[in-house]
Amino acid sequence: MATRNPASYRPNTALDLLRLPGIGALLRHRWGRLPGQMLLTLVALALIIDGFTGPQEPARNLATVAPWVQYRGLVVVVLLLVGNLFCMSCPFALPRTLAKRLSLSGRRFPRPLRNKWLALTGLFGLFFIYEWLDLWSSPALTAWVIVAYFVASFVLEAFFTESAFCKYVCPLGTFNFVYSTLSPTQIGVKNSAVCVSCVGKECVNGNYAPQPIIRADTIPVAGTDETVVKTITHGPQGTLGCGTLLFAPQISSNLDCTFCLDCVRACPHANVGLMTRTPGRELAQPGAWPQRWDVSLLPVMLTFIGLTNAFAMVPPVYELQRWLVEVAGLRSEFLVLLLIFVVGNLLLPVAAVTITAQIGRALTNMRKRLPLRATVAAFAPAFVPLGFGIWFAHYSFHFLISPLSIIAVFQEFLGMTGAWEQLSGGLSLDAIGLLQVVALIGGWAWSAWIVQRAARRLYGRRGFVGQLPWMLLLLVVLLIAVQIFSQPMEMRGTEFLFG
Ligand code: SF4
Ligand code: SF4
Repeated sequence: MATRNPASYRPNTALDLLRLPGIGALLRHRWGRLPGQMLLTLVALALIIDGFTGPQEPARNLATVAPWVQYRGLVVVVLLLVGNLFCMSCPFALPRTLAKRLSLSGRRFPRPLRNKWLALTGLFGLFFIYEWLDLWSSPALTAWVIVAYFVASFVLEAFFTESAFCKYVCPLGTFNFVYSTLSPTQIGVKNSAVCVSCVGKECVNGNYAPQPIIRADTIPVAGTDETVVKTITHGPQGTLGCGTLLFAPQISSNLDCTFCLDCVRACPHANVGLMTRTPGRELAQPGAWPQRWDVSLLPVMLTFIGLTNAFAMVPPVYELQRWLVEVAGLRSEFLVLLLIFVVGNLLLPVAAVTITAQIGRALTNMRKRLPLRATVAAFAPAFVPLGFGIWFAHYSFHFLISPLSIIAVFQEFLGMTGAWEQLSGGLSLDAIGLLQVVALIGGWAWSAWIVQRAARRLYGRRGFVGQLPWMLLLLVVLLIAVQIFSQPMEMRGTEFLFG
């Protein structure tokens, strides 16, 4: 496969959003992340309080409505239009920062776990628990999940040097990482030559030191042959470097980027920006993602989890469960669900991509020259747009049915009377259905375009034949998704509004 110059991965437009008046200065500021984090921390505390002490009716409690309806509806829109703003404002990062300052241990996360297998397990586990324990209908259990999140992020950050929770564990962050690869923004450097002569590489190493340290860097002046000597100070007011260990001049993808902007604040040469780019640019770039099974299976499994998560809310799932009880003799709901999850979210995606890749290699006579892993890695990014379309179709349904009802829930949380009459309206089912079709077909078309580019790159003149199995797989996934979304869907978290 062709290798590329790392410079070609850089965002391909010159607009640095951090140069925008007002908001740019706020985000670059040392505490620029704090307002968003404080706000979401207050929201998380309100969810915990309401979850434990409020009414245990799912549509009346912040703990169920806010995360399972509102957050999920908003996150897909924000990821698509702007980028990973929810990780930027993540409340779980606050105890993490505290833990990092306490720094109980300077150890790295264990090497065998420095990959996405834990995150994949976490995604599988979270969605399984969501279905098994009906989290969407249990404010108290959801509150426990939020508490567990705070504890897990604090413990992992306290014991390991990097942001292990964000990078290797967090299921929500993993979802955001994958789908922020569609977004029109990416961290990038303005002048690579400055990075070459930069001594401290503070974007990744940070400029925090318990005692002040002063040194000098000789850096080139952009557009000239001149150099300038710049004094660099590290000190207690400094910023920790990139928690997920990304090195700004080599960033090729939004995977693993929490948009925390610590690299921007730490760089002593003001050389890092939040740049605009062509949406989803990295998905069609060879080598932008590492060629690893864990990374390649991430968008594929998320696509299939999206299908089963939606399937669990339509009537045929009950027929399947009944069949599994009567014919297969499974006697517990736990085992029935586990079987559906293992087959739908594990065996099917792994089998689908490996068989498709094998057929593609056989059709193009590339079995000997192209390893299976490289083939799957080349086509895996194509699952991002279609997978996103499936999640968008699902989450937008729950959100748009009654987008303002959260205000009434909040009114009741404050002890007021909820204005349900005025606030429970939403988009008509026809309009939502149209939006779902646009999301699914649009996602599929975008995925098909990526497949076609990857096949041409991989197989050259045999690209047309080589793309056929992947096109067929995407089409089957699309048809299954259309079939699922054409069924009446449970209105989880908003059902009492509709009787
Ligand atoms: S981004 Fe800044 S800190 Fe990082 S290598 Fe380049 S100049 Fe140095
Ligand atoms: S410090 Fe790392 S995670 Fe944070 S914005 Fe920069 S590259 Fe992304």
